[in-house]
Amino acid sequence: MSKKHGKHHPGHRPGGGVTDGVDLNGGTRGDGPGDAGRPVAIPAARGIVSVAPGAPFDLAAVDADADGGLDKAWAKEALATERARIVELQERLYAERARSLLLVFQAIDTGGKDGTIRAVLKGVNPQGCTVASFKVPSSEELDHDFLWRYHARTPGRGMIGVFNRSHYEDVLVVRVKGLVPDAVWRSRYGLINDFERLLTESGTTILKFFLHISKAEQKKRLEARISDPEKHWKLDPGDLVERKSWDSYQQAFADALGRCSTPHAPWLVVPANHKWFRNYVIAKTVADTLEAMDPRFPEAPKGIADLKVPD
Ligand code: ADP
Repeated sequence: MSKKHGKHHPGHRPGGGVTDGVDLNGGTRGDGPGDAGRPVAIPAARGIVSVAPGAPFDLAAVDADADGGLDKAWAKEALATERARIVELQERLYAERARSLLLVFQAIDTGGKDGTIRAVLKGVNPQGCTVASFKVPSSEELDHDFLWRYHARTPGRGMIGVFNRSHYEDVLVVRVKGLVPDAVWRSRYGLINDFERLLTESGTTILKFFLHISKAEQKKRLEARISDPEKHWKLDPGDLVERKSWDSYQQAFADALGRCSTPHAPWLVVPANHKWFRNYVIAKTVADTLEAMDPRFPEAPKGIADLKVPD
């Protein structure tokens, strides 16, 4: 229990308040989060497009260059404020140990997933955070159902989990490269929605960010990786080949966003040509979501104030 905040909320006992295996409140953990598991309405920051559930989505209609009319210097300062909120709320989420937050990042190559994760989660307690980056599946992963490897990396109670790429790869790159028959990837939209519903009903709030950059912006970023020696390590020559499939990827993104935006886990499209804008609106959305989840420090066990530390 942190003395720094030390605010208790009588009557609220999410998950039973278990510390180091000792049940301080007489409750049990692992039997569902109860009230604490109620899905929160996702408070997307202004400038983010929340994809309407149940309708085709026109990705091309979203301006990747949008910056909400914000001032760059202001947004950089505001990012620091949002980060401080995230850090404070994460401590509560971790202490409460009843629910979790999953941040999903998808984008075309050079879309800015790594930079966003670095900028938004700077300062977060590493013990309360897991980051999973999904690459080409291993043969063991391919020997299982397509969700197996993702499910294994979802955040446990109290944790913020980050998916750098995600289960959506299985309806994106897999579709564009024709790695499975059409009927197989088509059946996955529904399976993904069921999977996300399972997570939500088990106490995980899901934020899915699609970082939307323009084709011209990708060219600029790829060229920077070629011309700047400090960025050479980021250049995958395969990305130049993938770029030729730009239109197929845009179609696959649009379909995934439209088919897998649900009331409990809507897709959030972030205009991402401007990194400062992207970072600020995502950080604000994460902070506002944590605030809506309202994680609370567990109640102190009775009589704790009278305990004496032995000499
Ligand atoms: P990143 O581009 O995310 O920084 P890498 O350069 O290692 O990381 O690329 C990871 C690669 O893994 C990407 O080309 C991506 O399309 C591929 N990948 C991820 N998931 C799958 C999947 N389920 N099936 C096939 N390829 C995948």
